Amino acid sequence: MKSDPTFEKRFKAGYAVDKKTGCWQWNNVHPANGYGGIEYNGKQTGAHRAAWIHFKGPIPDGLCVLHRCDNRGCVNYKRHLYAGSRKDNRRDFMERHPRAKELVSKGQKAATAGSKRFWNSLTVKQRKSFCRRRYQQQLNKNGGKSPLTGFNDIFITNGLQTRRIAIGSVVPSGWKRGKHYMVRWSNKQKVAASKRVKCWWADRKRRMA
Ligand SMILES: [Zn+2]
Repeated sequence: MKSDPTFEKRFKAGYAVDKKTGCWQWNNVHPANGYGGIEYNGKQTGAHRAAWIHFKGPIPDGLCVLHRCDNRGCVNYKRHLYAGSRKDNRRDFMERHPRAKELVSKGQKAATAGSKRFWNSLTVKQRKSFCRRRYQQQLNKNGGKSPLTGFNDIFITNGLQTRRIAIGSVVPSGWKRGKHYMVRWSNKQKVAASKRVKCWWADRKRRMA
């Protein structure tokens, strides 16, 4: 494939280096999927893919360009990107996320696009009954104690807004894990909350009840 002569300039102007993580954060990521986009040879493509093709060469057949850093908006082709299969991605992801691995080893599901689709396909009534059933299972497993571990969601916040995401989703830059019902935080609270990882089950149950 012939390389795009204007690419390098546009690429260099398109990201900022995050000194802490080493990520090259693409400025213009797609809000829905978190991937950066850029035009390469007149075709719109993922910024991480374009970087790979341009600097490293063609992506081998059947492989994808994956992120070691789990940051979809990262275009650090030197250190954070690698070519692998979807299966590699899944396995590597589990290695990087002990929490998800633990869930899976307990026979629970770490959230996937499929499980999100499943959840979205249920009616409110079905969700409630699903939650009740799952909660009861968890209670039984946990010797009757409230199981504050082990469901599919975490809550993230940027200090002003909160969102629910599945375990394993990429936390977008500027967002931190936190409680989902935070309103506005003082800096002190923010620091405290960013240290907490809250999933949760009990919160979800409360909301569904
Ligand atoms: Zn990165």
